[in-house]
Amino acid sequence: MPLASEGSIFQQPLIAGGKGDCVPLFQHPATAMPSEFDLIGRYFSRNSPSALLGVGDDGALVQPRADMSLVVSTDMLLEGRHFLPGTDPKRLGHKSLAVNLSDLAAMGADARWALLAIALPEANEAWVAGFAKGFFALADVYGVDLIGGDTTRGPLAISVTIMGEVPPNLALRRDAARAGDDIWLSGATGEAALGLAHIQGRVKLAAADLAQCMTRLDLPEPRLELGARLRGIARSAIDVSDGLLADLTHILQSSGVAADVYLESVPCAAALASCPDPVLARDCQLAGGDDYELLFTAPSHCRAEIDALSQELNLALTRIGSIIPGEPLVTVRDASGQPVPVAHRGFDHFG
Ligand code: ADP
Ligand code: MG
Repeated sequence: MPLASEGSIFQQPLIAGGKGDCVPLFQHPATAMPSEFDLIGRYFSRNSPSALLGVGDDGALVQPRADMSLVVSTDMLLEGRHFLPGTDPKRLGHKSLAVNLSDLAAMGADARWALLAIALPEANEAWVAGFAKGFFALADVYGVDLIGGDTTRGPLAISVTIMGEVPPNLALRRDAARAGDDIWLSGATGEAALGLAHIQGRVKLAAADLAQCMTRLDLPEPRLELGARLRGIARSAIDVSDGLLADLTHILQSSGVAADVYLESVPCAAALASCPDPVLARDCQLAGGDDYELLFTAPSHCRAEIDALSQELNLALTRIGSIIPGEPLVTVRDASGQPVPVAHRGFDHFG
């Protein structure tokens, strides 16, 4: 959607102010810079067998399968806010899609279609090629088709809209937790935030721990298979993007319940266990964010089924607490049941 009424982003945007301070970069005959449409054609137009009509028209046409509801979600990644300047484009392509797929996982949905809106400071073809490689490698794993998007010039920003399908009565929602439910967590939280802390000079990690933390930060694995298998088992779910306690609180607020979390039950990832700063490690574990694990609640009669699912998926699923009646607050408790003070609870862009 160009700002000017006619033509493309290469023309002077209406908001440029007429001072010539906004020179179009994408299309420069002397340097044969690729155009917007070159980039779309070369890097973002692929077959989309699951759509009736994909990239290339004014809109895509999709048909959800019979008796399935469409689940739609969007997440934006801004340079300097969600990722560091200079982040490897391939990793960024992966992460842009992964964080969106994680939202589908948290709804218990099957992933189907994606739209990609991207603002680029310049038409750097090598960068776009790397980004597309990371994006499509992950899309292929989950059978997601890219069916459209928008490409424009501007400060580096990426917004993916993801669509999936779920039987409407089996969607995993935030508002369905009940007192008596167990609280479960997939994998372990904290390593992504610890990797970021290292980059920011707040801690110095050993090389192997750093590599692990950077993988967790840059290449999150959306828990789609788990989400789909939790249909009919989990009562509520959310993916952990803002921090374990913050995201649990979102479930509590939506469901109108409280929670106890047992600190010694919360899984401790290897890099956190060997972190030279245990206070920071605890903060990352409980409030770090960027984990993209699933946090879900389920009735206690489902324990054996969830343990079996953990075995089958080869993914740790750990019972970390209980839903209780009360105001929507999390109480973190030690081994003797005493409340533990918690410094940070999670991330808020405006907090
Ligand atoms: P319009 O002017 O109708 O909005 P565009 O010129 O923006 O269309 O885009 C042309 C086609 O390319 C559309 O089908 C659009 O969905 C698709 N498209 C644009 N950018 C991307 C992108 N980054 N990834 C995938 N598809 C894209
Ligand atoms: Mg457009």
